[in-house]
Amino acid sequence: MEKITSLAKRRGFVFQSSEIYGGQNGAWDYGPLGIELKNRIAGAWWKEMTQLNDDIVGLDAAILMHPRTWEASGHVENFTDPLVDCKKCKARFRADMIPEENLAAKKCPECGGELTDTRKFNLMFKTHIGPAEDTASIIYLRPETAQGIYVNYKNIIQSNRMKIPFGIAQIGKAFRNEIVTKNFIFRTCEFEQMEMQFFVKPGSDDEWFNEWKKRRWAYYDRLGVKMDHLRWHQHDKDELAHYAKDAYDIQYLFPMGWRELEGVHNRTNYDLTRHTQFSGKDMQYIDQDNNNERYIPYIIETSAGLTRNVLMILCDAYDEEQVADKGNDDDWRTVLRFHPSLAPVTVAVLPLMKKDGLAELAQDIRRELKEDFATDYDQAGAIGRRYRRQDEAGTPFCVTVDYQSKEDNTVTLRFRDSMEQIRVPKQELTARLRQEIKEYKRIK
Ligand code: ATP
Repeated sequence: MEKITSLAKRRGFVFQSSEIYGGQNGAWDYGPLGIELKNRIAGAWWKEMTQLNDDIVGLDAAILMHPRTWEASGHVENFTDPLVDCKKCKARFRADMIPEENLAAKKCPECGGELTDTRKFNLMFKTHIGPAEDTASIIYLRPETAQGIYVNYKNIIQSNRMKIPFGIAQIGKAFRNEIVTKNFIFRTCEFEQMEMQFFVKPGSDDEWFNEWKKRRWAYYDRLGVKMDHLRWHQHDKDELAHYAKDAYDIQYLFPMGWRELEGVHNRTNYDLTRHTQFSGKDMQYIDQDNNNERYIPYIIETSAGLTRNVLMILCDAYDEEQVADKGNDDDWRTVLRFHPSLAPVTVAVLPLMKKDGLAELAQDIRRELKEDFATDYDQAGAIGRRYRRQDEAGTPFCVTVDYQSKEDNTVTLRFRDSMEQIRVPKQELTARLRQEIKEYKRIK
């Protein structure tokens, strides 16, 4: 993880928030390559949900919601973590994340000092809206995006004539006052979620639950993720959220071990029932195709962390490889093997030399490619070193312009994964790159 964190900083994927002031815990800034990667991961998910499914539409709800929302959802009462402090070294722990024997003996796992009793700690960030800081002005930063979908589900049925079963997808920020934030961007106080809530008829929920488990698994496979680094974890009774009938996490094998990447939850009709009670509005669905049958739908939720997906994709792509063809044992390269559709830069254009018109020719080629791909241009330093810089940024293709290019209008196309180089006519580049992206198969 240290290697990934340092690469992320060095290459402008992720910086510590407010670094010049010593950093802000639980918050990170996405640099030029990071924002491109994050946008592409979000784009892949958005396409998967809304473009490829006729029965899923999008939404972008506000972060600030009426505070009653969080009473109805149960977050004011239940969204807590158990907290213990060490009286001696002042370290703070989530009681469910330290060894049971330490908890039983009230012994600090770090210094052996005495631990306090366990107390509940609400994870919602609370602030005030308006000038008066009284209880009437309390407002929360949303701890999940889902509630924005629930309170809008009737609006969407009416405005878009949706019929059950259907889904609503949303990507957005969520905030949790996490007790322990470690492991880089894995667990942060400010993060982004990609959530899809699928509304189904009660009784069909188990079937849809299994269907969404299948679809989410297949999604990661298509994204080119190492499938032996993914597994399912079913929540047992103690783990199940207060609203859930069944829940499975997709876990990824991060450098610190197996951890949750995404949850698929059967949230029953809990949320909509509670919103009916708390708002006084009827949240029932009226099935006009079925004698106006009325019911409160069940909800199957797929809830993935976007920023956690960024970390997963970085870890999954990271590789260090001994470069055999040099005959030099010390020659290693760091390479990020992103799927080309996720890579922040798709193609880098490199003139072999700055002089003799090669730079101008390379700039022309870049200008053409820009219309279709995310490009980079680099003319500084030895060509081998420039390839390595692109490998480290995860750029799947490099186009090199040399003296032959001036004569016969061909360029060298170099592949990141195999380091293979082929000659391609300049005018065929765009089509060739499109084909390579479409047919991409990870080789390592
Ligand atoms: P955990 O048990 O790890 O705290 P959770 O079960 O509370 O997570 P959910 O409420 O199911 O998580 O949230 C859905 C997804 O949102 C998670 O799978 C994760 O990818 C992401 N997520 C949740 N909390 C955070 C966080 N603090 N930082 C980054 N991503 C998060």
